[in-house]
Amino acid sequence: MRFSPAASGFSNNSTVTCSRSCASCAPRRLANGGAWSRRQWAEARLADRFSRRVPAEVNLAIAEARAQADQYVAGYNIWMRHVLAENGERLFPPKMRLLSHWNLRDQIKADYGEKDGLARQRTVARVMESIVRQTIPKAVIDNPAVDWNPYTNEVRASAEKDYDAVPRAAQAISAAPEPDTRYAVLLDGFRAVRRMDPYAPTAPTHMARMFDEARELPEERVRGMFEQVLSSPLVPKVAALIERRLGRPLEPFDIWYSGFRPRGAYSEAQLDEITRRKYPTPEAYRGDMPRMFEALGFSPERARYLAANIVVDPARGSGHAWGSQLRSEPAHLRTRIGSGGMDFKGYNIAVHEMGHNVEQTFSLRNVDHWLLNGVPNTAFTEAIAFVFQAKDMELLGLASPAAEDEALTTLNDFWATYEIAGVALVDMAVWRWMYGYPEATPAELKNAVIGISSDIWNRYYAPVFRKRDVALLGVYSHMIDSFLYLPDYPIGHLIAHQLEEHMRKAGKVGPEVERIARQGRIAPDLWMQGATGAPVGPDALLAATARALEKM
Ligand SMILES: [Zn+2]
Repeated sequence: MRFSPAASGFSNNSTVTCSRSCASCAPRRLANGGAWSRRQWAEARLADRFSRRVPAEVNLAIAEARAQADQYVAGYNIWMRHVLAENGERLFPPKMRLLSHWNLRDQIKADYGEKDGLARQRTVARVMESIVRQTIPKAVIDNPAVDWNPYTNEVRASAEKDYDAVPRAAQAISAAPEPDTRYAVLLDGFRAVRRMDPYAPTAPTHMARMFDEARELPEERVRGMFEQVLSSPLVPKVAALIERRLGRPLEPFDIWYSGFRPRGAYSEAQLDEITRRKYPTPEAYRGDMPRMFEALGFSPERARYLAANIVVDPARGSGHAWGSQLRSEPAHLRTRIGSGGMDFKGYNIAVHEMGHNVEQTFSLRNVDHWLLNGVPNTAFTEAIAFVFQAKDMELLGLASPAAEDEALTTLNDFWATYEIAGVALVDMAVWRWMYGYPEATPAELKNAVIGISSDIWNRYYAPVFRKRDVALLGVYSHMIDSFLYLPDYPIGHLIAHQLEEHMRKAGKVGPEVERIARQGRIAPDLWMQGATGAPVGPDALLAATARALEKM
């Protein structure tokens, strides 16, 4: 397989200089890897295993900073019964405790179509803004003993006791803001991570390590892909469709609009009954796997081969696919089966996990060099698993989703990618800013994050939301505790769509999955080029969205 860096939009990295004469440092690999043989890729993967000697105290400092940040994030609950509406009313039920930002965001999503939902959504968005801006009173964080009006910022002792014990030591009742702790924690993380720089001469910043090395997609290219989605002419079209469906102008929290979810033809209860009858035990599911594989287009021989190399185990948690490292060992599909048999949710997860197992089997047993086993990164194995998961109804012999449902799912993905691409750009710009001002104070970082969030909002969102200077894009907790992880989400959406689009055209999933998975762990662009004929990018998602809009 050949790959032309120029055609893919790669910069031709002629300025790369290495301190050592390594053949495989990340920038060189990305510039030249397309011309490498399989053996050269295997050798590069071997070199990765021994590539860096970092002093133990640096690794320890990073682990400690991460643990501190995790702890800060994990305790950031808001007791919603005690968050009041603008007029002082209580909008939320007793005991509702929402973790920032996940539960807050999901509450906004859940409130579409609910009576009084709009007032709650506005209030949650107000809470989020005050977290980013650090105007939130310290006393209201994880504290149900006080009532807070986020519109006036007034705090007072609560007359309503909907809790058994206050989770933290009783705090003084005061409206004094959280003292920029959010940004002090982020700065600690940055300073710990930066200590790695001197030991990484070929990737001397955290950005280089995350993009060039871990993702193997250069930061510039990733930014370009996100900007392509954000500035797509499809954005105002989808925005107008959402306004029509909502019957009101967009408000900033509508970046989390959830109303594109399709209604299926079967009820959850009907589906549960079907899967429980079909799969009373893990053995029943395993016994049906050869049939499922053939239905996915694998030859009878391939179907038997896969089934023989995947073991189904009962799981205590939700479900999990555990790949082997040894070619002599099978992959494990861990799935949850209750005493009444496998419910539909468990079945849907099992099909997803089975996709992982198929990928794991081919990418371990059928790659030419063991060192190349696997996929470029987790977004790729997830994309393959989603291809399987989307076939869940078909595999049960039920009608697959109607064209309109598929269109809705695509629009949902597009809007989610539009949202998270902006969030990722904020994360990326904030890391660049911290490298530019390594001695910054928490207050200076706060102002920078508010400025960056607002700038990106004003550029890509304000034109359709018709409101400026919104800081909501800065609310994600991953920005504080996961050190430049957020870009993985939009990249994952793009990769999943590329693969889905390719499978839609290819028709038969089975043989394509085998061919694609056997490429192993080469660079993402090379893998995608080999899989679909194009490097990683947003074109497939945008094309599918344009089609979906026509159908609506
Ligand atoms: Zn998965």
